[in-house]
Order: sequence, then C-alpha cells, then structure tokens
Amino acid sequence: MIDSDALESQPDEEESDIWKAVKLDDIRTNPPDERCIYCAGLSENMTEDHVPPDNLYNGVAITHEKITAPACFTCNNNRSKDDEHFRNIIVPYCAKDSSVAANLLAGKVSSGVGRSPRLKKEDYDRHEELEQITPSGIYLVRSLRFTFSPAERACMLRLYDRLSKAMYWYTLRKNPSGRSHKLLEANESIHFMEGLKKAPTQASGNPEVFQYRAIAIGEQHEFLLVWSCFFKKLSMVSISGPPEEIRKKLEAAMKAS
Ligand SMILES: [Zn+2]
Repeated sequence: MIDSDALESQPDEEESDIWKAVKLDDIRTNPPDERCIYCAGLSENMTEDHVPPDNLYNGVAITHEKITAPACFTCNNNRSKDDEHFRNIIVPYCAKDSSVAANLLAGKVSSGVGRSPRLKKEDYDRHEELEQITPSGIYLVRSLRFTFSPAERACMLRLYDRLSKAMYWYTLRKNPSGRSHKLLEANESIHFMEGLKKAPTQASGNPEVFQYRAIAIGEQHEFLLVWSCFFKKLSMVSISGPPEEIRKKLEAAMKAS
C-alpha cells in the first residue's frame, strides 16, 4: 500500500537525511565520566572492564586498541563465568567461517569442555548441514543451522547488555545509566543499516575477533546506534537512548526506509 500523503510531503534532500553523521569526538564528554558503567557508582576500587571479553583474544595478535570501560570492583567481579560461557557458545558457532575462532575452538574451548562435566563435546558439533531441495528435487543450496538453547540465549543477552553499555561509554565517554539498550531483531536492524554504512568500521583488539560501527542519531544525538560483529560472523545491531524514546525512534526509522 502506498500512502499518497507521505508521497506528496516528500521532504527535501537535506531534511530527509536522517542519518546526517555527527563526529562522535564532537559529542564526547570531556573529561570522561569515570563512574561505573553498571551501577553509576564511584569507588576507590575502580577497575577496567574488557568487553568483548579478553578470553576471545587468546593467541591472537593485538593490532588495535581494545575497548575498555570503567566498572567498580563489585560489578566487575564474578564476570569470568559468563565470559567463559559466552566464548564457549560463540566460538563453535563461528568456527566454520573464521580460522581465528577455529583455533580457539581447537585450543581453549575444547579444554574448557573437558574441564566442565556440564559441557558436552557434542554441544560443539551442533552445526547441522541442511541441503535445501525443492519438492520436485532441484538442489538449491547447502546451509548450516545452529541452535542456541534458552540458557545460551540468556547468557548472550547478558553479554550484549554489557557490550552496549561499554560501547556507549567508550564511544561517548558518557555514563550509560538512564539509557535503555535495545538489541534489534534482524528485521528491525535492516532499517538502520543505511545509517550505519556512514560510520567507519573499527576494531577492538583485532578485526578478526571484533569489529564495530557506531553512529549518533537524533536531534540532540541522543541515540547511539551500534553494529557489532564477532569473528566476522555473528553480528548484531543495538540502539541506546532515552527509554521512553527508543520505541518511537524505531517506528520512525522503519517508516522512513
Ligand atoms: Zn558498579
């Protein structure tokens, strides 16, 4: 269906550029907000949180600055289990497309599997090869299917929540408290790709492990849009912004594209 009103009130070129890029350097907080990105507290025991987790870089040359963000000792403590779980989930998923992930799988992840009785070896061979054939027998394509369990999804969501907060701080040097961080569904992400194309691709540690693009949008640059990609394979788009505005922004972007 075509909305004729929308067609008639086509905004001019300048107005329609909802992705007008703003240099993130220009809107960075200076000096940086050094409060904990998780609880907004400031203590004597401030630490640096590494997101993406450090364990993804085992045996990988560090060629780029790593993303770090301030976290208090209490919030940063006890994250190692989640970090290990996350690595054990995504490395097998990416191993068939990334030699770096494949090396990790052969090394640390497999020994981790051996250590933990709850992690079974067969969990890491869950790539199911599917040959897609039409009902009349015409061969279409061979594809891979990988299924994540509910517990794995929950772990990934926790990690992505941390990632969104750390990226928000790292790119803007602002504390992320008071902002919502929403991971977009694939069908929602599509509407933001046009904007993300305008941002340069950057890397944390090594581009083979983690790449990202970040762009600030909104009248007051109140939203941060981030595309992140592990092992050039597992990518996500997230949006951070005022909690009550995110839904509206999402609807506006879907309408505009
Ligand atoms: Zn804290």
